[in-house]
Amino acid sequence: SSVCVLVLGMAGSGKTTFVQRLAAHLHGQRCPPYVINLDPAVRDLPFPANIDIRDTVKYKEVMKQYVIIDTPGQIEVFTWSASGTIITEALASSFPSVVVYVMDTSRSTNPITFMSNMLYACSILYKTKLPFIVVMNKTDIIDHSFAVEWMQDFETFQDALNQETSYVSNLTCSMSLVLDEFYSSLKVVGVSAVLGTGLDEFFIQLSKAVDEYEREYRPEYERLR
Ligand code: GDP
Ligand code: MG
Repeated sequence: SSVCVLVLGMAGSGKTTFVQRLAAHLHGQRCPPYVINLDPAVRDLPFPANIDIRDTVKYKEVMKQYVIIDTPGQIEVFTWSASGTIITEALASSFPSVVVYVMDTSRSTNPITFMSNMLYACSILYKTKLPFIVVMNKTDIIDHSFAVEWMQDFETFQDALNQETSYVSNLTCSMSLVLDEFYSSLKVVGVSAVLGTGLDEFFIQLSKAVDEYEREYRPEYERLR
């Protein structure tokens, strides 16, 4: 049956490239996805989209396929807008839905930048209340193991932070303790959207996230119906 994958992340993190890669992979498996582009700013779409916001959004066409949604670079536009909320809720009450948060691993090697990315991810989790996968993209540039280590052991993160002393680094240090709970339940996958590596692991995590949706989220949506 169909699954809805909502792809979010900061501008330049690789959302569009990742969607292109996912779509190509699914086409290769003779399981063509239903792709929706919600980024009105994109000039050339590198994948064929069934629905493109640059035409007119025809929600009724969203039928029984694998739905993949590419969103605008500015997360706030989608996550915090009324239409973003309406789209998310409409989809999540119709399909098992999962948020995929794409981050640029190569631009998250600074612990403070990393933390700001994680707080962003956390705020999206709060807003969408959906199962969540963090895709650490661009592993062709740098392996994501440093980030996984920071998430599993806050002392290694704090050691990295100790290079600098400032208000922000003290705050970041406290935040890492708070986020421990968030990290512990997080599904993390390293991929390279450009090379196509890490997709098998992504699909494993995706199926776990779908199970999680069925177990914990669907009952809530049925209650609301
Ligand atoms: P979006 O703004 O999140 O949709 O990001 P794009 O998919 O447009 O990608 C932004 C830039 O990052 C482009 O120059 C891509 O070629 C590049 N990029 C995307 N994925 C990868 C990757 O896995 N590795 C590398 N090295 N570059 C990537
Ligand atoms: Mg894009």
